[in-house]
Amino acid sequence: MAFSPKTRRYLVIFLLIGWGISLSYFALRSKKPALPGKEAIRFYRDNRLLMGTFWEVISPDKRSSAIVFAEVKRIENLLSKYIEGSEISQLNRTGKLKVSPDTFYIIKKSKEFWQASGGAFDITVAPLADLWGFTNQEHVVPNDDKIKLTLKLVGSDKIILHENDNVVEFKFPGMKIDLGAIAKGLALDCCVKILKENNIDSCLINAGGQVYALGEKSGSPWKVAIQNPRKPEITGVLKLKDKSVSTSGDYEQFFFKNGKRYCHIIDPKTGYPVSSGVSSVTVVTDSGIEADALSTAVFVLGKKSGEELLKKFPRATAKIF
Ligand code: AMP
Ligand code: MG
Repeated sequence: MAFSPKTRRYLVIFLLIGWGISLSYFALRSKKPALPGKEAIRFYRDNRLLMGTFWEVISPDKRSSAIVFAEVKRIENLLSKYIEGSEISQLNRTGKLKVSPDTFYIIKKSKEFWQASGGAFDITVAPLADLWGFTNQEHVVPNDDKIKLTLKLVGSDKIILHENDNVVEFKFPGMKIDLGAIAKGLALDCCVKILKENNIDSCLINAGGQVYALGEKSGSPWKVAIQNPRKPEITGVLKLKDKSVSTSGDYEQFFFKNGKRYCHIIDPKTGYPVSSGVSSVTVVTDSGIEADALSTAVFVLGKKSGEELLKKFPRATAKIF
């Protein structure tokens, strides 16, 4: 089974967030009765555990869920660091690999977000995630010397991309990458592309709270309720058409040590889990990849610098808590 220890432990949280959104969606939908003489459109709904989270697909087209699940599985097999034969696992083991166009594209995009965010978004934090025990869920607070040493392996400028033959190379042995902050966003975009190729123009995909709303639901934008990650309440309802939403926060994975909370998103500048004063960031924009990367980047940067970053992406709007 392709689930990490982290995944199994936190699945319940993802499920709750996922169900929170979808149940709210259905509550909203049921308030609107079908017009007299018009038959209500039937919506098909299916779900699957993929990429360490709970994927839910709602669409008037029966084919949508099978298309989405097959595509997400394909992406997971390429990009998951928890699947031994994935391209990312091979690259992390060998430090140099000729990869598929999708893998090359996501690493290239990750470097662009690294550049745009002044280094806050950085897929090379993987050795730090290992050091803090986020990879195997054996959490520890490492000593400063170990953090300093590990920081030498961090920095997306140390990823060399050979454009001519799709080869990705690490500058130093021991470097690793982790696409956990961007891969679901790419998967959403890939699904939307294939749905469109199949002439499907209405579909809501919810990947554990990260959403893409394709087209409309019976002539109106899809309505998605965003649940407060800390309390059982809804913080707002978004009306979405051809938009993606992503939320990053300190509630997904964290541990407490001596009364201090340490979350799974790491500041690549310090080597410590982020403590930017922000507890969650929700970004809405046109593509899954941009929503996913920006919500993580803004979470790392905090409110002030995060808002500066968002100015570079005029299509994106954000709620920062
Ligand atoms: P997300 O939930 O999309 O914000 O992504 C969080 C995941 O991204 C973490 O579980 C790590 O796998 C990875 N990650 C942690 N810190 C960073 C960072 N500064 N930049 C990019 N990815 C990160
Ligand atoms: Mg993200």
